[in-house]
Amino acid sequence: MVDVWWAGVDEARPEFERDLDTAERERMAAYVREIDRARFLLGVTIVRRVLAARFSLPAAKIELDRTCSMCGKPHGKVRAAGVELSVTHSGALVGVAVADVPVGIDVERVDPALDVDGVARVVLSADEVQTLSQYSGLEKARTFATYWTRKEAVVKATGEGLLGEQRTPEGIQVRQLDVGDDHRAALAVVSAEPPVVRTFRFGSDLPR
Ligand SMILES: [Zn+2]
Repeated sequence: MVDVWWAGVDEARPEFERDLDTAERERMAAYVREIDRARFLLGVTIVRRVLAARFSLPAAKIELDRTCSMCGKPHGKVRAAGVELSVTHSGALVGVAVADVPVGIDVERVDPALDVDGVARVVLSADEVQTLSQYSGLEKARTFATYWTRKEAVVKATGEGLLGEQRTPEGIQVRQLDVGDDHRAALAVVSAEPPVVRTFRFGSDLPR
C-alpha cells in the first residue's frame, strides 16, 4: 500500500511553521524565493501530519532524519522510523508518498520553453528519443516530463541512476500518477507486485 498526498503550493500557511524543528526552520529560512519556502514548508507539514495521524503523536514530536549520506549535513532524503517516505515539488504541486517499502515520487511542471531535444539526448535512451521525435510543442514537453518523472521516481526509490537506461530494473514497479495537464508525476516502489495506491488531498483529507 502506498499513500500519495498532494497539496497546492498556495496552501502553505505561516502557522505550519510551529511544528518545524530547528534544522527545518534554518533550512526554510535559507531559501531565497518565497515559493521555495512554501514548497519546503508544505512538504514538511504533510510528512509530519501524516505520520502524526499514523503514530498518534503531535506533528511536532515526529522525529525526522535528513542526514546526508555524502556529507552528514541535514539536507538529505527525509527518513522516519517504521515507514518509507518520498517528497517532491515542482510548479504548483507538492507531493508526498508514504509506504512500507522503499518509495520514490517525482512531479515535474511541464515546461513548454524547455529545449527538450537538447536535454533528451543527454538523459533519455535512444528509443525514448526516437519516440519523442514523433511529438512537437506542448505534447513533446509533456512526453519528456513523463519519461523524466519515471526515471526520477526510480532514482528516489532505489538511490541509483537510470540515465540513458530504457528498461525499469527488476523488482521495481513504476506507475504514472494523474496530476492534470500542467504537470507530470510518477511513483516507483521496490516491490515484486504492483502497489495499491491511495491518493489524498492535503487540504481536505488530513486531520488538523
Ligand atoms: Zn550533503
